[in-house]
Amino acid sequence: MAERRVEVALPVPVYQNFTYTVPEELSESVHVGSRVVVQFRNRDFVGIVQGDSAGKELKRKPKSIKSVPDVEPVVTAEMLALCEWIAEYYVIPLGIVLRAALPAALTGARQSDPPRKTQRIIEIVSPALSLSERDATFGRAKQQRALFELLESLGGRSSIDHLTQQLSVSSSVIKALETRGLVAISSEAVDRDPFASRNRALPSTHIPTREQVRAIDRMSAADPGEVFLLHGVTGSGKTLVYIELLKKVVLERDQGAIVLVPEIALTPQTVDRFRAVFGDTIAVLHSSLSDGERYDAWLALKRGDKKIAVGARSAIFAPVANLGAIILDEEHEASYKQGENPRYHAREVAIVRAKGEGAVVVLGSATPSLESWVNAASDKYELLTLPDRVGGATLPRIDVVDLREKKQPGAHVAGPTYDWVIRSELDAALKNTLDRGEQSILLLNRRGYSSFVQCAECGHVMTCPNCSITLTHHRAPERLICHYCLHREDVPEKCEKCAGVTLQQRGLGTQQVERLLSDRFPSARITRMDVDTTSGKWAHTEILDRVGRGEVDILLGTQMIAKGLDFPNVTLVGVVDADVGINLPDFRASERCYQLLAQVAGRAGRGSKGGRVLIQTRVPDHHAVRFAVSHDYNAFVREELDGRVSPPYPPNTRLANIVFSGVVEDEVSKLAIAAGEWLRELIAHAKGSVEIVGPAPSAIERIKTRWRWHVLLKSENPSELTRVGRYFMERFEVPSTGQLRITLDRDPVTLL
Ligand code: ADP
Ligand code: ZN
Repeated sequence: MAERRVEVALPVPVYQNFTYTVPEELSESVHVGSRVVVQFRNRDFVGIVQGDSAGKELKRKPKSIKSVPDVEPVVTAEMLALCEWIAEYYVIPLGIVLRAALPAALTGARQSDPPRKTQRIIEIVSPALSLSERDATFGRAKQQRALFELLESLGGRSSIDHLTQQLSVSSSVIKALETRGLVAISSEAVDRDPFASRNRALPSTHIPTREQVRAIDRMSAADPGEVFLLHGVTGSGKTLVYIELLKKVVLERDQGAIVLVPEIALTPQTVDRFRAVFGDTIAVLHSSLSDGERYDAWLALKRGDKKIAVGARSAIFAPVANLGAIILDEEHEASYKQGENPRYHAREVAIVRAKGEGAVVVLGSATPSLESWVNAASDKYELLTLPDRVGGATLPRIDVVDLREKKQPGAHVAGPTYDWVIRSELDAALKNTLDRGEQSILLLNRRGYSSFVQCAECGHVMTCPNCSITLTHHRAPERLICHYCLHREDVPEKCEKCAGVTLQQRGLGTQQVERLLSDRFPSARITRMDVDTTSGKWAHTEILDRVGRGEVDILLGTQMIAKGLDFPNVTLVGVVDADVGINLPDFRASERCYQLLAQVAGRAGRGSKGGRVLIQTRVPDHHAVRFAVSHDYNAFVREELDGRVSPPYPPNTRLANIVFSGVVEDEVSKLAIAAGEWLRELIAHAKGSVEIVGPAPSAIERIKTRWRWHVLLKSENPSELTRVGRYFMERFEVPSTGQLRITLDRDPVTLL
């Protein structure tokens, strides 16, 4: 009898499967989707059997499978098909997709981490430093200054592990800052599974409104694979719609479901509401689970002991059997796109998975992504609308505070003063809210650290003449560069619009603002929340619980405080500086800004006391600000879509961003230029419909000591984009010097 051969997907960066023979005695346990242990490049790997080999010619005699750990295949036929789709569409080796889809305990990818009880925290203790104080303090100690400013951008604190392991900061630089008394290092306890010990909320007894009923009825009568876009303003009761749908799917039809939220730690209220209704049939998949706990949850779902998986992005791979519904709450959130390989978008994967398994998909948002909006307009998705807040509440009144009305006092002499950061209208509103014993939320958008040049007098921002993209300010040599087309110019002496003296804007740290606020309101209970450190995630859940219990007067935070919070006693929302996000060199900057403003405004006035919103900005006429103020999503989308026609950006075209990185700047640029030529030649011969933009340095030029360049592929034809992207990734040769690396990001959510 001929020996049996199978194709095995391995988690290695090679775009092919590998052939192995099946030993006679293992043959009965080797199926499609089985885990197998095989040797590859002298190491043992866990691979997944993709299928039997179709008698292809091999140069070498294949090795045989060493062992088969499970009796039953761990990957179902549907899950394998889904992973194959991801591998094809996002141009990623299948084995790497499968590794991401399975719990770590099954892929042998890493040893289980020993549970950490404490972690070391570094925190800035010096007062805020002005520019000249910085120059004096750090002199030529560039690395120390860089670390200090990095910490500022992280909200003033971080775990040391995060700095040294993820951001490659050297411990000697940390030590140096500590010795100079600029930072302090301390130990902090790490919590374990807080959901296990959370109090169970009571299920809500609300009677659905007419609009909610209509949405629920439509969804529960849907055909398998149908996709709904649930566009409901903030406070319109989307969660109740999800829950009523799941009652039908899970309790009446005995099917399973997946609920995706942007981040578990930031949405404890939403998770609590689901748990209140579905109790122990829910598996909450969150980042604090150990590999063992994660595997237990995985098994419970696979066996059908649990019916509903609630989690962030990767929960889309939960092995829920007999899947009836997939819900994506806040579908516009960028966190649904994975930032590292495999760079999939959970929304796209959800839609493909639901089609394959006959489930319905509900995409919910008050501010849908433009992609989803266009899909609903073209009837690919069915649009369902909740136009009003429930319970007679109305959307809050939003007013703009024009930051241009005041001149910056001695810009480079001292750090910003309270009056400069919080203008009198916002100050008065804060004081009022405090006096009434109500709560305020203050948003400080931190994404302003990519520097740009803006006129402090008229608000004009220097943009590229070719790309309608903000020019990025570079030092040494000082100039403005467009990161899409490489256009360069000198920093102008005067504003090109109003001839005012231009000033470089710097972002503000939340910690700085917190200090200014507590000087102004010494008896107020002010709490700061920033998500950037990977550490202390549950601290955020705790803070939110404290806000809910009324123990916080002013909650100050970055964009994370804009998400799904539902606190009726929050009657004031202030946005400290709306502009920083608008000016990022990214075609999605306006969309993100609009979403952020609309979402954070949506936290105000959810109870009977009503609420108001104050947005401080230098660009009150920008459409993202204007239409956030008038609560007019449709008008925003219309204007934003028009702005993405020439040059075309999604959803008017499709993108793949190819990023080149390495530790030697020169080699990275050479590689990117060579790749650009290679691609242009490829496209010239193929006469395809793909356009190439670049190469150019990435807007964030260096991440974790690696320099970055990129090339953008644009096409209206998705399969052309797949073809060109795949051909390039498979054939283009990367020299083995300077740790050069190429990644392809299909449908990028950011081009930074
Ligand atoms: P969204 O997610 O759309 O912003 P939520 O789902 O958080 O809104 O609902 C806002 C609030 O309204 C919640 O406190 C919820 O309990 C309440 N709510 C939802 N539906 C109803 C209803 N039909 N009647 C009264 N209150 C409701
Ligand atoms: Zn340009």
